[in-house]
Amino acid sequence: MRAYYTDSYTAEFTAPITEITEQDGRPAVVLGHTYFYPASGGQPADRGWLGETAVVDVQIRPSDGAILHLLAADWQGGELAHGRLDWPRRWDLMQQHTGQHILSQAFLRTAEAETIGFHLNETTCTIDLDRANLSEADLATAEALANETVWRNLPVTAHLVDWARLDEFPLRKRPPKDYAQLRLIEIGDFDLSACGGTHVAHTGEVGLIKLVKREKRGDKMRLEFLCGGRAVAAYGRQLAIMGGLIAELTTAAEGLLPNIQKLRGENKQLQRQLKAAQEQLLGFEAEALSSQFVPTAAGDSLLTAVLPHKTPADLRQLATALTAVPPRIALLATVGEAGATGFLLFKRHPQAGGDMAALLKAALGELGVQAGGGTAVQAQGGGFTASAERVAAVLSSLI
Ligand SMILES: [Zn+2]
Repeated sequence: MRAYYTDSYTAEFTAPITEITEQDGRPAVVLGHTYFYPASGGQPADRGWLGETAVVDVQIRPSDGAILHLLAADWQGGELAHGRLDWPRRWDLMQQHTGQHILSQAFLRTAEAETIGFHLNETTCTIDLDRANLSEADLATAEALANETVWRNLPVTAHLVDWARLDEFPLRKRPPKDYAQLRLIEIGDFDLSACGGTHVAHTGEVGLIKLVKREKRGDKMRLEFLCGGRAVAAYGRQLAIMGGLIAELTTAAEGLLPNIQKLRGENKQLQRQLKAAQEQLLGFEAEALSSQFVPTAAGDSLLTAVLPHKTPADLRQLATALTAVPPRIALLATVGEAGATGFLLFKRHPQAGGDMAALLKAALGELGVQAGGGTAVQAQGGGFTASAERVAAVLSSLI
């Protein structure tokens, strides 16, 4: 017997064991009556204990509708079981589920949006509406009506009615399939829905209803919301985050957004200034390196240099500046620091001789790396971990 149908509040009870069986590889028992809610209608199953044994799931057996209490261990307790629900968990699910009925009716009344889906688990609660074009104002209006309904503290009652009499009741939504009997949840004069779930006794117990996320899904909209204790807990988490930001930025809550925008603006400007300064510095470095070119046997002008603390982009910029004058060839390298690997960049003026790609391939081969490539004029590659001295020796052996 489903005692939770008429009483959502009993969390401790004694009932006879009528069957000891097995389900999903776990020991399971059927009770003469039970207040444990089995997974169904979008509401998760209860948890709790029979005696000292944990109830890890509650399921409806499809063959006969019996309610199976899946246990963490074999039942050792005799013919009578003392059942205890995990009440904080059940209470949370009751607050969310009644909140959902209220919210769904509120959307129907204020936006003619029908609820076509409902998902509830231990952390998240969503409804799917058959309209996607709801504005922020539409959401706020529905949320306001939902909370007003909570605060009116309307009675929430359950009734069993015969299917044949169903048309007498103004249901929010007609159930999709036939049942001999139907359980209706009535929320005062506000909502009437067919539902098998567990609900609070008065809307005031839902506490509050807060929409927290909206997501357009084609021509539908998924809304995530929080009720009661979940909403309060989420509010606490948000305040903790805000408190951290307020302390970090030494501003009031209202100042957070402008403060962060200002910081981001300053950061962008600093990055621009840093980039300009780095370019200027590279210009000076190029100038200093220009004096180190030496003539080659082929009549070109050659520079080989291993430069620490350089990025590949730095090397490219330096090489471009250094080889702007004919007939210069620059063979530049940087060596890896702090776990990074080394990089080579070879570039020549178009009027200088030599095949940079071939030289690069030879150098990388010496350094034990295959990656890299380019053209006769410019080539690059890296990935080696050799020391600066070793790299310098390889570069000077190339031409
Ligand atoms: Zn329901």
